[in-house]
Amino acid sequence: MGDKPRFKAFVGLLFLSVSFIQTMGCTRNSSDPSSVVTVYSSRADHLIKPIFDLYQERTGQEVRFLTDSEGPLMERLKAEGANSPADLFLTVDAGNLWKAAEEGLLRPIQSKKLEQAIPAHLRDPENQWFGLSLRARTILYSPERVSPSDLSTYEALADEAWAGRLCMRTSRKVYNQSLVAALIAHHGQERAEQIVGAWVRNLATEVFPNDTDLIRAIAAGQCDVGIANSYYFGRLLRDQPDFPVRLFWASLENSGTHLNVSGAGVTRHAKNPEGAQALLEWLTEPEAQKAFAELNLEYPIVTEVARDPIVEGWGSFQGDLLNLRSLGELQTQAVQLMDRVQYR
Ligand code: FE
Repeated sequence: MGDKPRFKAFVGLLFLSVSFIQTMGCTRNSSDPSSVVTVYSSRADHLIKPIFDLYQERTGQEVRFLTDSEGPLMERLKAEGANSPADLFLTVDAGNLWKAAEEGLLRPIQSKKLEQAIPAHLRDPENQWFGLSLRARTILYSPERVSPSDLSTYEALADEAWAGRLCMRTSRKVYNQSLVAALIAHHGQERAEQIVGAWVRNLATEVFPNDTDLIRAIAAGQCDVGIANSYYFGRLLRDQPDFPVRLFWASLENSGTHLNVSGAGVTRHAKNPEGAQALLEWLTEPEAQKAFAELNLEYPIVTEVARDPIVEGWGSFQGDLLNLRSLGELQTQAVQLMDRVQYR
């Protein structure tokens, strides 16, 4: 017990000398939170490290990052509260971005640059999160058993013609919750429920844990069509250019292909909000956009940026113009709807 005050005094002295050293010298001392940008990312290391390295090379800004799944990262942000070292939260799917905003983990920022670079439907109307790359969830099919002329909309996969021929990923994945939310936004609950219920009746097999297994099942003849994000197909093509599956640009009735984003927002308790905003703005520069989209074979959000040849090979599509925030707002309804029709 008696040692405690002395210990405290020692720590105080140490602290003073550390601050002193900081004032003395480096402008970018890494123990000063305002000189570093810290990112919590649910995108995998190999998809973001090259981008942050490039940023550091271009600007000298040190970026630290921590990767995990979005759930644990959001829990962590909540638990850390004002003590969180995170300045920027980066994740995929508007459903997750919306949830982070809804739970008070992000802050609105004013940026003309972001508003100009990112189409309005691909960012939060309250400026708490911004799409950085575009992903399209569309129809994949077997060219041996399906003619592209048989394909049209997501809704048409509810037709009896597809009975026993459809593959779907689990409804637990936010990608499908967002897709069903888009159906609700366009058609209302009742019609959306009819469509999703018919998809479930048309299933050829149990639902899949991920998109890659689903696409492989089409190749293996377990089913003829399925719905997946295009980049998963791109990865398979990168390894095997003659992979026996094709991509069809599905559209929602009276609209376009179902879109989603990966994106980011400045955290509520950012120690370096200016640094986080600067990084966010840089991510919309053509050089960053190209790298960010290409690493995962997604689409740049800035349209004039060139695409990867694999992605280019799929041709162009019209995207749905629904503001992605709706996907979050309708998420609970979508999950309940999928439960009702026993979409596992
Ligand atoms: Fe994914």
